[in-house]
Amino acid sequence: MKYNIEKINLIAQEVAEVVREGLAEESQGKALIGDVEMALRESLREIGQQALGCFLENADGEVEAEMGCSCGGKLAYQRQRKATIWSVFGKVTYRRAYYSGCSCGKGCAPVDRRYGIEPGKVTAGLAHLIALSGIDKAFEDGRQWLKQYLLFEISENTIRSETQKMGKLQKQADAELVKAMQSEASLQKREQSQQPAPDILYGSIDAAKVRIEPRNLQEKAVEDRENWRDLKAGCWYEGEIVPNRQRSERQKHKAQREGSVLRAKNKQYFCGIESAEEFGKLLWATGCAVGADHARLLVFVCDGAVWIWNLIARYFPNAIQIVDWYHAEERLKRIAEEAFSNLEERQAWLEGVTEDLWQGRVELVIAACQPLTKKSNLAKQSLSYYNNNTERMRYAQFRAAGYLIGSGVIESGCKQIVTQRLKLPGAQWNLDGAILTA
Ligand SMILES: [Zn+2]
Repeated sequence: MKYNIEKINLIAQEVAEVVREGLAEESQGKALIGDVEMALRESLREIGQQALGCFLENADGEVEAEMGCSCGGKLAYQRQRKATIWSVFGKVTYRRAYYSGCSCGKGCAPVDRRYGIEPGKVTAGLAHLIALSGIDKAFEDGRQWLKQYLLFEISENTIRSETQKMGKLQKQADAELVKAMQSEASLQKREQSQQPAPDILYGSIDAAKVRIEPRNLQEKAVEDRENWRDLKAGCWYEGEIVPNRQRSERQKHKAQREGSVLRAKNKQYFCGIESAEEFGKLLWATGCAVGADHARLLVFVCDGAVWIWNLIARYFPNAIQIVDWYHAEERLKRIAEEAFSNLEERQAWLEGVTEDLWQGRVELVIAACQPLTKKSNLAKQSLSYYNNNTERMRYAQFRAAGYLIGSGVIESGCKQIVTQRLKLPGAQWNLDGAILTA
């Protein structure tokens, strides 16, 4: 948008003068730049608050005696009526023409209709900020954070309800995408648009238990049995090499072993609290949206759950399947802890078997677990885990091909929401709020 820069200059000079006067009185010339910034922010917020009110109050233009009602009937001008909204500048009150008297019983304020205003509610701009703070913070933290940025208070309840509203919208958008990607016409339209597909595209899927807020009294009655559900989460991403100077300590350590270090970029999360069947549709739809079916290579890096591999095989049968390295390696550590009380023996076994796994010699890993099955239950269970996933653990081959073998994206993305956010005491979400991706 273009502003009249001369007018803005004049206003800026006046604001500077107002702040100078205010500070002179308050600080006796001892104000530092931080004080000046804060005074400016506060006065600019107040200017925004008043300007928005003026803007809406002058938005009516000429007032007609009558107007059409959305039902097809007729509304008559009643009077100038007051309305209040919560904006990014705080609470704003304004007066606008109000029409009523239709047989349907509804009234109308043309200004509200034109600008998409719901009196008494928060504006779309503020709702967006609130929901952003609600996504990755506990509601109480979100409130503090918003106050720092906006310079006024928003209640925890408002943060909660706005976050949930955004969750609902996200769910709707997901449903529309699922529908579109199942229709021949939209798929064809996408073909024609010829968006460049990524060369190697990665996908990861995982699930976590989340606690759900009971939605009604009936659900409250069975609260303790019913309120844990599976949140299924997925991520699409591409790989890129981490430059030397940007490597963390952990990545430097990794680079010594692996030569180069890859990280995920262009991450796109999706999640839902739904059956594997329904989640599969979302996997397909979000995949189409990022060009998964057009990528030269599609690689899935996941934990070993059977339902996940089944979905992948069904929707993307040509994808390369890799069991996340960190999951497979971590399992060996747990087996070693269970099976060996002697630390030296434990360490010796673990080093050998981890190297075998690293080289993709899964048969040797299985052979190493075999004699431990009497001492370790996990070793026993893991025989089938390594057996069923043998071809998904050919890590030497995968590394040689330059693939990411452990993603961590799920852990750092949706799982972060789950562990830090959803599982926080007192921060239970209802179903709509939980289905929210950043
Ligand atoms: Zn009507």
